Amino acid sequence: MTISRYKTIFGPVPSRRLGVSLGIDIIPFKTCTYNCVYCECGATTDLTLERKPYVDAETVLLELEQSLSNLDHVDYITFSGSGEPTLNMDLGRMIVDIKQLTKIPIAVLTNGSLMYREDVVRDLLPADVILPSLDAVSTKLFSRINRPHSKLKISQIIGGLLNFRQRYPGKIWLEIFIVKGINDGGDELNNLYCVIKKINPDRAQLNSLDRPPTDSSVKPVDMKVLENIKNGWVDIPVEIIKRIRKREEIAAFSKNLENSIIDTISRRPLNIEDLVQLTGKNKLEIFKYIDVLEREKKIYSEIVGDKIYYVSVK
Ligand code: SF4
Repeated sequence: MTISRYKTIFGPVPSRRLGVSLGIDIIPFKTCTYNCVYCECGATTDLTLERKPYVDAETVLLELEQSLSNLDHVDYITFSGSGEPTLNMDLGRMIVDIKQLTKIPIAVLTNGSLMYREDVVRDLLPADVILPSLDAVSTKLFSRINRPHSKLKISQIIGGLLNFRQRYPGKIWLEIFIVKGINDGGDELNNLYCVIKKINPDRAQLNSLDRPPTDSSVKPVDMKVLENIKNGWVDIPVEIIKRIRKREEIAAFSKNLENSIIDTISRRPLNIEDLVQLTGKNKLEIFKYIDVLEREKKIYSEIVGDKIYYVSVK
C-alpha cells in the first residue's frame, strides 16, 4: 500500500482550473460551514462557523517545503480539501509564509461563506487567485442546495463577495454549481446572473454533478443546459468546468497507487474515507483515479445509506 509522507500536503492533483495543483488541506474531514446536497465527500460531520487553528501551521510549511523540493513543476499551491479552508484562523499567516518560500502562485478554494468577515478578507488578500462559490441568491434555494449553518445569511455572503471584489487586486474565479430542477432555470437563474454581474468575477465557472452526491436525489444537468446558461449570460466571462477523465492527464500519475486502489476495492467495496485511510492520500487525488477507473468500467459506484461505495467490476 502506498502511504503518503505528508499529513497536510497532497498531489500534485491535475485540475482543469488550476493545471498542476499541489494541495494543502488545513481542515479535518469533514468540517464545513455548509452541508451541500452535491458534496462529493459525504455529509458534513462538523457544521461550524468557528475559526480555529485546526492543524499546526509550522507542520504545513515544513511539509510544503519538503514536498516542493521533490517536484519539478507546480502551477498553483492550492488550499482545498476536506472542508472549508477559511475556517482555519492561521490561513492568512500560512499564505504570507508560503510567499516567502516560493514564487508559485497561491489559490484558495472556498465556499465564500465567511468572506463577509474582515479577518477572513485580510487572510485572503495576499493570495493570487480566490475561487469562491455561489449557487443561489434566494434564501430558499441557498438553504436547499448548500444546507448552511443556521447563522449564515445569503445576503451577507453576497455582500461579502461584492466588498471583496472592491478590495482584492488578484483574480476571482467564481464557481456556480447547477443542480437539476433546483437552480437550473427561472427567476433564480436570472437573479444569479444579475448578482454575478455585480460581483464582476474574472471568470464565472459553471459546474454540475459528475460523481454520486451526498443526497442521492440530486441529479446533474445535461451539458446542453450549461451551454444555454453560458450563452445567455452575456457580459460575463463564463466557462464550463469539465472533468479530467484520462489517465495520461493525471500529473505525477502513479501506477502503484492505481493498483493499490483496484486491489483494495476488488476485495470489498470501499468508500472514499476508507480509501483515504488505506492509501494515506487525499480524497481529491484518489478521486482522479476513481474517475478514470469508472470511465474504463473497472469499478462502479453504489449508494448504501448515506455513503458512496466503489465496487469492483469482476
Ligand atoms: S462547501 Fe464544499 S466541502 Fe463544504 S459541503 Fe459544500 S461541497 Fe462539501
